[in-house]
Amino acid sequence: MTNCPCGSLHSLETCCLPYINKEKQVPTAECLMRSRYTAYTLHAASYLFDTTAPLSRRFTSKKAILAWAAQNTWVKLDVVDFTETTVTFKAYYFDHKGYPQEHYEKSSFCFQEGCWFYVDGVFY
Ligand SMILES: [Zn+2]
Repeated sequence: MTNCPCGSLHSLETCCLPYINKEKQVPTAECLMRSRYTAYTLHAASYLFDTTAPLSRRFTSKKAILAWAAQNTWVKLDVVDFTETTVTFKAYYFDHKGYPQEHYEKSSFCFQEGCWFYVDGVFY
């Protein structure tokens, strides 16, 4: 059993995977953020696209998401802080040249028609 990439200490199968496979509704913004990080590690571009708020989708594409997910080696996620609709986190990864990078973001989420969506983020 491997721990879920999101750092929860649960297994992938009981943590983020049911959300990514759309077998379970995502209950909170924090949960969506964690499962989106895990989706990056799994190159699950469809999930990342589908959980982007419809109005924000025009700023991205599945192809761009997949390229970003696949070119980096994802190391770990630290959730620094969260509220009902925001999550501040650091994602650590190695870029395509092998350099360690830290992505520090405060993401905003919205709840629409029973589902949580990623809206946008402030980058630090
Ligand atoms: Zn997880």
